[in-house]
Amino acid sequence: MVFRSLSVAGRRVCVMSSSRPPASLSPSRASDFMQCPLLYRFRVIDKLPQKPSEAATRGTLVHAVLERLFDAPAAERTAPRARSLVPGQWDRLLESRPELGELFAGDAEGERLTRWLAEAEQLVERWFSLEDPTRLEPAERELFVETELESGLRLRGVIDRVDVAPTGEVRIVDYKTGKAPRPEYAEGALFQMKFYALVVWRLKRVVPRRLQLVYLGSGEVVTYDPVEADLERVERKLLALWEAIELATETGDWRPRPTKLCGWCDHQEICPEFGGTPPVYPLSVPSAEVPAQQAGEDSPSVV
Ligand code: SF4
Repeated sequence: MVFRSLSVAGRRVCVMSSSRPPASLSPSRASDFMQCPLLYRFRVIDKLPQKPSEAATRGTLVHAVLERLFDAPAAERTAPRARSLVPGQWDRLLESRPELGELFAGDAEGERLTRWLAEAEQLVERWFSLEDPTRLEPAERELFVETELESGLRLRGVIDRVDVAPTGEVRIVDYKTGKAPRPEYAEGALFQMKFYALVVWRLKRVVPRRLQLVYLGSGEVVTYDPVEADLERVERKLLALWEAIELATETGDWRPRPTKLCGWCDHQEICPEFGGTPPVYPLSVPSAEVPAQQAGEDSPSVV
């Protein structure tokens, strides 16, 4: 085990370098690679820690509350009960991930925390205008799924909720605490849902009847009814993506792809696009290979 000292988001951190080539793909990591191959490398190969953010942590908290609410009998799944779960679930989250306490460091009066918890309660409350949990009996909540395609590629992920109708039709539901994207950007969000649908199809031999995105930030529900051809297309896309990831892994050629999303990237300080230097690549590469970004070539694209 090797330890490396790195600068991450303005702080010196020591990371364990137990890097191994990636062995499976999740929707988030697939999106990372499509957004920026170097970002994928930092997260998957270098395993650089990410600074907790208020928005992402609020999302985790709201997901936990919506999951726990279904522990109660149907008639008791009310908005006041859901709101009352927020402080306790925040305590549990903090217990399992004490580093989240950093988010409210310096908030001596607790004002920011109070406001943040109130925002989480509002998101939870808005869910009741979109779905009625007293009439839902999920087959699964926070379901970890994993499958291996014929090519050997392993796909994995966690589905927020799976509903199964008495007729056997499957609905996959995902909660988003942000706002629904404009129609021209909806495909990105649906990609994650089609990824899950492909995994469920491969595991259960059933094409999910409906994919449902519940946007708590804007109070909107986006649905898509997939057919086999959609899922076959996603499978082909994922195979192409995985080939590109394998090539980058072998050659060490992870090129930055700057976009406006760089503003949310924790790794600008070590990104060449912002004058930084990435850490030494922790995997071995054939010595004859010259990373193409050093040769000034264009970045390969699979999107
Ligand atoms: S700052 Fe932008 S280009 Fe650099 S690694 Fe992050 S996402 Fe990629």
